[in-house]
Amino acid sequence: MANKKSNIDHSLKEPLCGADCRELFDTVTEPMLLVSESGQIVLANPAAQQVVGYVQSELIGLNVEELIPLRFREHHRQYRRQYFAQPRKRSMGNGEGLVLLNRSGQEVDVELGLNSITLNKQVYTLLTLNVLVQHNQAENALRESEERLWLIKQSAGVGVFDIDCVRDRVYCDERMRELLWYEADETMSLEALLNKIHPNDRLRCQAALDEAASPDRDGLCRIEFRVVQSKNLEERWVAALGQTQFEKGAAKRIVAIARDITERKMLERTLQQQRNETEMLSNQQIAIITASAIAHELNSPLTAISAYSEVAQRTLGGEVIDYDKLRDAFAGCVDQVQKAGNKLKELLSSLQGNEVETEALNLNHVVEDALKQARGDGYGEFHLTLELESNLRAVKANKMQIQRVLVNLIRNAVEAIRAESVPVSKIAIAVKTLANESMSMLTIKDNGPGIDRNTISRIFEPFFTTKPTGFGMGLSISRALIEANGGQLWVDPDFRQGAQFHFTLPFAS
Ligand code: ADP
Repeated sequence: MANKKSNIDHSLKEPLCGADCRELFDTVTEPMLLVSESGQIVLANPAAQQVVGYVQSELIGLNVEELIPLRFREHHRQYRRQYFAQPRKRSMGNGEGLVLLNRSGQEVDVELGLNSITLNKQVYTLLTLNVLVQHNQAENALRESEERLWLIKQSAGVGVFDIDCVRDRVYCDERMRELLWYEADETMSLEALLNKIHPNDRLRCQAALDEAASPDRDGLCRIEFRVVQSKNLEERWVAALGQTQFEKGAAKRIVAIARDITERKMLERTLQQQRNETEMLSNQQIAIITASAIAHELNSPLTAISAYSEVAQRTLGGEVIDYDKLRDAFAGCVDQVQKAGNKLKELLSSLQGNEVETEALNLNHVVEDALKQARGDGYGEFHLTLELESNLRAVKANKMQIQRVLVNLIRNAVEAIRAESVPVSKIAIAVKTLANESMSMLTIKDNGPGIDRNTISRIFEPFFTTKPTGFGMGLSISRALIEANGGQLWVDPDFRQGAQFHFTLPFAS
């Protein structure tokens, strides 16, 4: 054990008590230490020196926490502060004994008596040590492994929390409290723990814990959530991995480790922004190319129509109207309009490419894949309600296209909720069978601001958007894709608790 002396108390320079008093202190057979409010040892009698293996000169000025094993040191420091706030005679360690670290690093079991003494107008604590019987080998091994575990936790920056499901108590170690920005006690109720979680992530975490506590499941719990510091609203992302212990078919405790993943989340967010920007650029590019192609195809018929119209105008302006010339001019206009129409049709079919490749699809699986993709794209922060039919008939559709539509609808919902700062984001997705119509119907609703009457009539128009960086192509492309797969996509104009979209797809057989 190193002999670390920190800044020595000013009071140590003054003799604390007279020679008689010191002699008396030294002759007491019980090991005793006198400790100042800042934690420095100011007196140690020979019996105490023997217990901790230090000589007097090493002990004086040494911080008392140096005699405490690392894993208990912070706890002891807090305890000492609390004690000095209200000094009184008491024992320490709740009768379970305490552990001291001697000079050679071995742990010594002691019982501690605490007493406050005022000398030279300063309050000191008199520690009386009662050495307990040495540990047996098994206990020592356990201690060492605890110490090792503690060191691993320290170096990995991992916090631990332990939920007592029976008594509704949650124990959080020091690192976990740090992760939660929670300065109070080591234990709290489950409700207090959940209240530390960002409101948007709370329901999801609660659901994950409920699932982990369910005896029909494997008890594993994996959650990622945000914690917001109340003072400066700083946000931190935490990932927790827990395992439930069951007793007689009921959850007894959930022990979990947690770590700070803010940096990873920030990186993901940056990558997502870059992906969005790239997507927007490519959308813009597609729009420019499409618009140029349309302009190119319409240019020559429009020029011809303009020329025929001028001829017609001139003919009508003459003194004698040449009806044959007029008829030819109008026939030319009609011919060019038809040509323009045909060219547009050709252009559309070439842009749409070949026939849509379809397959028999389980819509439930498409929903799951779309949710995964939306989460991966940074649109996963919502409480999800899923109502999937278990024996759903397969639909005939192109998987990638339907997934794209669904991701777009989820994304729109999340963006609408985000823009409104709704406290708890909720999205519900339901899939059901419309047997009479040989169709499946998917409904997606959110608790965002909804869509007002003026806007609702325009949302499927290309380039219509109400978002500052929106492009307004999502819904029109989605509708075109659903229609290409034989279904329909529409918005519910009467839904008032947010927005609700439906689409249908035909059964495979
Ligand atoms: P963009 O997302 O680029 O704006 P979209 O075609 O996907 O393009 O959406 C068009 C508009 O429809 C949006 O700008 C928004 O005003 C409205 N909208 C779509 N989905 C929702 C929703 N879930 N809640 C509220 N408004 C929505």
